[in-house]
Amino acid sequence: MSSITVTNLHKTYKLGKIPVPVLRGVSMEVASGEWVAILGASGSGKSTLLHLLGGLDKPNEGEIAYDGKALSSMSSSQINQFRRNHVGFVFQFYHLVPELTVIENTLLGAMIRLGRVGYMRESGTLKDAARELLGKAGLSHRLTHKPSQLSGGERQRVAIARALINDPPVLLADEPTGNLDQKTGHELLDVFESMRGNTKRTIVMVTHDQKVADRADRVVEMADGRIREVHPTG
Ligand code: ADP
Ligand code: MG
Repeated sequence: MSSITVTNLHKTYKLGKIPVPVLRGVSMEVASGEWVAILGASGSGKSTLLHLLGGLDKPNEGEIAYDGKALSSMSSSQINQFRRNHVGFVFQFYHLVPELTVIENTLLGAMIRLGRVGYMRESGTLKDAARELLGKAGLSHRLTHKPSQLSGGERQRVAIARALINDPPVLLADEPTGNLDQKTGHELLDVFESMRGNTKRTIVMVTHDQKVADRADRVVEMADGRIREVHPTG
């Protein structure tokens, strides 16, 4: 369970000496267990915002708090630890390791969280958990395949299983269907939905596709560096 409070977030990149303002005062609330879609055109700053939410980068101004605890109050190592334990990421281009099998890719998140020794100690339980997640993702028959032997939709389902292996309360998804055709994309969102489970994971998904955004509980729009509009979906 985790709520997210974003307050007046500013982020400006520098191109040489020229400042490029991307986020200009983003504020939003995500309730614990809520699935929010952030809809915005390409270049509107969606990935930038998601990186800040995941503590992968820092804002110039403003604050992000999980359950009231501000990321800015944590040291870098505390943020890294927070991310390992609390946040799962899904990216547009899957980012699977080509040399590893489906189940090994899924287990990677747990290896990173636990370290080698910790992982070895729990590997039996973790492998069971990975098989179960991959089963829910419809990939039971693909456990020992390599990513190159999978379709795009299947690769992204592996990426979801990997993101969830640590059972994070928060899932951040950056254009998770952006590289998939419409039908495959919606099947993937079905997997998303089924994997929310009873734990009611908080999901923030960014997309440029209205139909994809409409699958969430709530849609907000990003434009001119701010969150502009809020409207419920049907
Ligand atoms: P989106 O994900 O909505 O397409 P991004 O957050 O990737 O948008 O990018 C928003 C803007 O910030 C774009 O104009 C992009 O070129 C610029 N940008 C993103 N990352 C960097 C960076 N590391 N350095 C400079 N400019 C960047
Ligand atoms: Mg992007």
